[in-house]
Amino acid sequence: MQGTMKVVNFYEPLVMKNEEHPIPEIADNEVLVKVKAVGICGSDVSYYYGHSPLDTPNGKGPLYLGHEASGVIAEVGSIAKGLGLFQEGDRVALNPVQQCNACPACMRGEFNTCPHCEVIGVSVNGCFAEYVKVKYTHAYKIPDEVSFESAALSEPLACATHGIFDLDIKLGQTVVVYGLGGIGLMMVQLAKAAGAGKVIAIGVRDYGIEKALSVGADHAINVRDKASQYYTDDTAAAVRSFNGGELAPRCIVPTSGMNALKDALNVTGACSTICYFGLPSPDDRLEIPVLDAIQSERTIRFAWLAPLVWDNVFHAVASGQVDLGPIITNRFSLDQTEEGIKYMKESTDDKIKGIVLVD
Ligand SMILES: [Zn+2]
Ligand SMILES: [Zn+2]
Repeated sequence: MQGTMKVVNFYEPLVMKNEEHPIPEIADNEVLVKVKAVGICGSDVSYYYGHSPLDTPNGKGPLYLGHEASGVIAEVGSIAKGLGLFQEGDRVALNPVQQCNACPACMRGEFNTCPHCEVIGVSVNGCFAEYVKVKYTHAYKIPDEVSFESAALSEPLACATHGIFDLDIKLGQTVVVYGLGGIGLMMVQLAKAAGAGKVIAIGVRDYGIEKALSVGADHAINVRDKASQYYTDDTAAAVRSFNGGELAPRCIVPTSGMNALKDALNVTGACSTICYFGLPSPDDRLEIPVLDAIQSERTIRFAWLAPLVWDNVFHAVASGQVDLGPIITNRFSLDQTEEGIKYMKESTDDKIKGIVLVD
């Protein structure tokens, strides 16, 4: 497609510019997507502030960030056209992690560990732009009931869903969700939808706790704010009080806070499963009392990205099992992307998830 488009170009930490660039040309195996909505991910914030490098040769830009996106098909490359897969105007969500499909990990369906992934907004140009090109295998048509705003959050929801699948919830089990950001609030709903009897939400701010209760959590604990009605410094005792005297059989930890990672071991009992999901720093270490873990036959799992769960995600949103509306608290225009990233990091206002609306 000819013409130019507005983009937000990230050069290096704290340097981001609104610019006009040519609309990308697509290859035979790609489609062009006119972007509608893009979630601001914690990782976009980390790239902007230089807390983590991009996956480019020098770790820096220029690169358009943004990988949680929805939009409409604007142009179809020859392969997808030959297969009759897309029409211009089709509503899609993007899977930004474009695995190679040829390596041993991909052969096993372990796409999340493919060492050759091209990641939109991380290693190649992303979605803080009017148009983005994507492999036709990574643009998924979305049901009519799913809004562009919700579809933009299907990538984090897919990651959350993979974590919940790893947690292996059995019907009626009590599930602790430890960390109440956007992903935690998705997990509260997913845990319920996956069969949890009770969900106990643990957070550090009453704002997130009230949100968790509003989307289906049965009980809540605030581990930081002593003024909170939900405050306790003894999470194990609180979990027992909500769970018939027992510790929890399942706990998922969508946060990088080391206190939460450690405390997950305290709130879970024998034969329990913990799933760690957050993004701690490379130096963080977790100590596990090994003998106790063996004798109590614990399962500890780790979840990363979102292989093979996207169909579940679209149907869960379309059917109302997961409501992403309460999670989106801040909206910005494309021109305000940098401001939005700074706001999500620096503001002390109550907020969960910011989203950039591109037109
Ligand atoms: Zn993300
Ligand atoms: Zn691969």
